[in-house]
Amino acid sequence: MSLCLPTLRRQFPALHQEVNGHPLVYLDNAATTQKPLAVLEAMSAFYRSDNANVHRASHVLSTRATAAFEAARETVARFINAWDSREVIWTRGTTEAINLVAQSWGQSLQAGDEILVSTLEHHANIVPWQLAAERKGAKVVPIPLDAHGDIDLDAYRALLGPRTRLVAVGHVSNALGTVNPVATITSLAKAAGALVLVDGAQAVAHLPVDVQRLGCDFYAFSGHKMYAPTGIGVLWGRRELLEKMPPWQGGGEMIERVSFAGTTFNRLPFKFEAGTPHIAGAVSLAAAINFLQEQDRPALLTHEQTLTTYLADQLRATPGVRLVGAPQQRLGAVSFLLDEIHPQDAGTLLDMQGVAVRVGHHCAMPLMESFNIGGTIRASLACYSTHTDIDTLIGAIQKLKEFF
Ligand code: PMP
Repeated sequence: MSLCLPTLRRQFPALHQEVNGHPLVYLDNAATTQKPLAVLEAMSAFYRSDNANVHRASHVLSTRATAAFEAARETVARFINAWDSREVIWTRGTTEAINLVAQSWGQSLQAGDEILVSTLEHHANIVPWQLAAERKGAKVVPIPLDAHGDIDLDAYRALLGPRTRLVAVGHVSNALGTVNPVATITSLAKAAGALVLVDGAQAVAHLPVDVQRLGCDFYAFSGHKMYAPTGIGVLWGRRELLEKMPPWQGGGEMIERVSFAGTTFNRLPFKFEAGTPHIAGAVSLAAAINFLQEQDRPALLTHEQTLTTYLADQLRATPGVRLVGAPQQRLGAVSFLLDEIHPQDAGTLLDMQGVAVRVGHHCAMPLMESFNIGGTIRASLACYSTHTDIDTLIGAIQKLKEFF
């Protein structure tokens, strides 16, 4: 198999439209990706023919919905190489997955415990830890970066100690595209007796993810950043940890027996899934995974790596453009600034030329602070991105500079 970009792009209807009189160039994939026909059709087919609530099947539609929903869980488990599909908990997305761990596992924190969080993190992998730490008198300790925007591994080693309970780290940074050495980070944490949560929001669409090989304890991701709909995501956790963790939300599904004398809780994974889940979302996420797995994934990864390098090189070669960060390994996203043009203005003016990028702090204020800036312009890629997209972006930046 190899990669045929025109064929691939034809599967994404949203790419083929004009915006402000120009063909759309969609370079905001780190915020959310467009959806292929297979996903749109899976969602539509579910609502057209199988729609029913799950797990209380006394009729055919409910049996079908439950089967599809649980098959989707199996698909996710295989996709990330989990030991067991009971380790796969459906959430609304990465944010909810991390909050689940922070609130549930976080109950075990004690005063003086430390949670190490890299300075690269999205707020979703900072604020839940701050909330959990505040409740228990524990501490969130930032892991600093070096001047390039890579995690400073020496500083990290020095921070690890007997008080470290958990290390929270992104697999790939949404703001700079930095690919973090997660396996190294994990093995150092393990040697110090700490758990590791990996925020995989920006990794799953690009990199093959094998939770066993990464050696982490929790892995969180969102469907919508990997060609599936919004509102569905996954928390993977080691079964022995999940078994010990208390429920975090109460309601239907998560119970075994309810009585005013005392309530007992359901087994995994349902213990963490209170209320009616996003059934169509789960089914569509499985369709997105199948879509990805039908592609030549090594070829896709090479394409995305080549394109990321091309994007960074072209930006660097454009007068008046300054890249933010120079990480050793970068994938999918590049942040930059333009001389004398505020990112907000740049975003609007690029949009007027049909180019969709994201501007601002990218929910990574501590990272921005470490570079002494308020925000950046970020171009981010997906499997369907092309060299032409990048050339159009560069042309649009050049025009914008003439304009100013
Ligand atoms: N972590 C990272 C690295 C992200 O890029 C994002 C989304 N921008 C999130 C967490 C949060 O994801 P969601 O909003 O889908 O919960």
